[in-house]
Amino acid sequence: MLRHIRPIWASLKRAIRAEWHGPADLPGSLTMEWRLITARWVGILIVGPALPFLNLPLDHLAAAYAILLFATAYNVIVRWWMQRRPDLFASGYVTTVCDSLLNIAMVSVGGGFNSPFSYILFTVTISVAMRYGYGPAMAMTLLFVSGDGMEKILTRQSPDVPFAFLSGFLVITTLLASYLRSLTIKAEVALHERLQELQRLYADLAVAHQELLSLDEAKTNFLANVSHELRTPLTSIRAFSEILLSYNDDEDVQREFLGIISAESDRLTRLVNDVLDVTKIESGKMDWRDERIDLVSLVDQCTRTFTPLLDQTELDFRLEVPATLPPITGDADRLQQVIHNLLNNAMKFTSDGTIALGVSVRGEWVHIAVSDTGVGIAASDQERVFEKFQQVGDTLTGKPKGTGLGLTICRDIVAYHGGQLMLDSYPGQGSTFTIVLPVARTERLAA
Ligand code: ADP
Repeated sequence: MLRHIRPIWASLKRAIRAEWHGPADLPGSLTMEWRLITARWVGILIVGPALPFLNLPLDHLAAAYAILLFATAYNVIVRWWMQRRPDLFASGYVTTVCDSLLNIAMVSVGGGFNSPFSYILFTVTISVAMRYGYGPAMAMTLLFVSGDGMEKILTRQSPDVPFAFLSGFLVITTLLASYLRSLTIKAEVALHERLQELQRLYADLAVAHQELLSLDEAKTNFLANVSHELRTPLTSIRAFSEILLSYNDDEDVQREFLGIISAESDRLTRLVNDVLDVTKIESGKMDWRDERIDLVSLVDQCTRTFTPLLDQTELDFRLEVPATLPPITGDADRLQQVIHNLLNNAMKFTSDGTIALGVSVRGEWVHIAVSDTGVGIAASDQERVFEKFQQVGDTLTGKPKGTGLGLTICRDIVAYHGGQLMLDSYPGQGSTFTIVLPVARTERLAA
């Protein structure tokens, strides 16, 4: 016997579970409305068989079954329609009105508020509280209670204990169900906020991870570049010294080779110094001085070391510096290194014309501009020249010997001083590199 029942019970359970959960594509907003369909089936199944035992007059019994039949049809239609027009049911207004009307009809046919049918009212108020919370649920409850009271007054009965009980518990149930709803909403909101916070954290983590990956890649590239750049001068130093060792006839050739070795050693030293500078600045290990700097004398010093180099060329030099300038703060040696580097680049990349060094004050900023009438830099390369080991332009012919680190160091030093290194350049016409630095704080306050 049990053997036959078990599979039937199992498939029944499966069917009930499937009905309770509803179709897989049911929108989340309709979950409760869908569950209420099952609740209605349970109500219909309970009331249907119970009706004959309630000693109702025959016409009332017939009316009650008619309402039940209508309720069945209504539930079938709601179930069918909800899957096709979910928007119609999401608010729950339609079903709330229909449920209430059906239940009130059932209560009045079944003998009014004093009959067992009054329990049905609890399901209505609870479902309204679940859908809309305190306000509407209490309104519905008060509607029932006053309907009950009106019935009492019309039939000239005085409010009795059952009336007080029913009304009281209807109110309590409404309050509790509404409270439960508010708790659920709060929990849902908290959960949603937590989820959003987690999503934000996850996004931040992904970004940090990406940054670490690219940092790692940059480090690897940097190492590869440094090794490559070191190898070139080392190779020529080794080759020329080996030749020199076995070659001791011609003194001129010897001198020429020694000259090459010396130049390559210089280049090696410059490269090692630049690499040290970059790594020290970017790892935060650079020792910076923090002093008040007189810009006029800083520029003057740069000019004095630069003009002897320029004298060896055909280039003109123009200096435009006001007699007085507001002080800035920072490391004078490092800033001098920046200006010196820019002047050197200007000289390296200009075959004829003028190199100019100009200083001007604009509001709370000082602009130190180094311009040349040289080869210029294509717009597409202007951001790249500040990257490590980037040398642009015609790299095959006449590539000037440099490390490709100079502008990186310049930009880092200027950035450390709270400023910006900007570039304005047109190929064939020349370039202007402008150092923009903030005026010393106290000076700004005084202004
Ligand atoms: P390098 O030691 O090679 O000069 P930099 O970082 O100082 O390294 O410069 C990077 C590249 O930027 C140079 O190789 C050159 O292609 C370009 N550049 C820099 N300054 C100028 C300039 N004044 N005119 C034209 N090109 C320049």
